[in-house]
Amino acid sequence: MTVTHAYQRLKAKLSGDVRAMEPMARHTSYRIGGPADLFLICDTVADLSEAIEILSEEGIPFVVVGKGTNLLVSDEGYRGAVLTLGKEFKRHAVEGDYVRAGAACVLAYLVQDAFARGLGGLEFAVGVPGTLGGALAMNAGTRDAWIGQVTDSVTLYVPGEGLERVSGRDITWGYRRSGLPERGIIVESVLKLAEADPRRIRLQMEQALDRRKESQPLGIPSAGSVFVNPAGDSAGRLIEAAGLKNTRLGGARVSDVHANFIVNDGGARASDVIGLIRKIQMTVRDRYGIELQPEVRFLGEFAEP
Ligand SMILES: Cc1cc2nc3c(=O)[nH]c(=O)nc-3n(C[C@H](O)[C@H](O)[C@H](O)COP(=O)(O)OP(=O)(O)OC[C@H]3O[C@@H](n4cnc5c(N)ncnc54)[C@H](O)[C@@H]3O)c2cc1C
Repeated sequence: MTVTHAYQRLKAKLSGDVRAMEPMARHTSYRIGGPADLFLICDTVADLSEAIEILSEEGIPFVVVGKGTNLLVSDEGYRGAVLTLGKEFKRHAVEGDYVRAGAACVLAYLVQDAFARGLGGLEFAVGVPGTLGGALAMNAGTRDAWIGQVTDSVTLYVPGEGLERVSGRDITWGYRRSGLPERGIIVESVLKLAEADPRRIRLQMEQALDRRKESQPLGIPSAGSVFVNPAGDSAGRLIEAAGLKNTRLGGARVSDVHANFIVNDGGARASDVIGLIRKIQMTVRDRYGIELQPEVRFLGEFAEP
């Protein structure tokens, strides 16, 4: 019942890659994160099922991640296995207005392909990094549009049970949450798009990208918005009003472009980012009585404040 034993069993059984002590900084948009005991690329559903069986038998916890664009991983890493989806989950096919896509498809690629085929509905997602699986897990989107609105169905892999198809109507699409990760591993989805004028799609995408370029610190490592917006307000506005723009801790800094982004200026540690998160929460609570809730997901152990 050791990681080494699990590693050997997984190596022997999986068609995808199996790595030990994999630095998670390589797999997050923050470029931050210590090693995961095990890092698995599951290329097929059979890999996924095999991996989960072995990990359960070995008593090793696991988590599924996409491109790590909404993830802060502890400097100590993760004492368990990080599962990612490979080959079989990167395929997509279009039939009429329907796009059937694996959870490992890069969302930006689906957005571009829909545009090329004159299919509208994904314009809101232009500039959202990450995978389709991550987008469905997070119900990614903007204030006005989100992935749940175009989701016809999702296929989950439920450990111990197998594949389960869930209709989009039976999913509780909340603000930056879908409840899907609690139900299983997202492996595929069918999106329902609609024929649209390519000129209109292009215009909407260009406008959305321009807004991002003006309002977000693109090109500097981050995980996007750190906090969800409190009802009727904006986290960025509150953080800016509290005078926290440009506040620095180690290599991490509250962006001067968008106060709800914490950026890695180089060499930032997870402890720097978490320190800023706590400082922001405390300051906004003291000044405005508002409890900011993180949108970013955490992986690994973080020291108590
Ligand atoms: C510059 C920048 C801009 C951004 N702008 C936006 C924006 O406009 N709107 C927005 O909503 N988000 C935005 N984000 C955040 C992020 O891109 C989205 O949340 C994205 O959908 C996450 O996808 P991912 O593949 O990187 O997921 P990850 O970060 O890898 O994972 C996110 C969560 O989903 C879970 N998960 C991932 N894949 C699966 C799966 N297959 N099955 C079950 N659970 C899974 C993970 O366990 C984790 O809890 C931005 C991020 C950056 C860096």
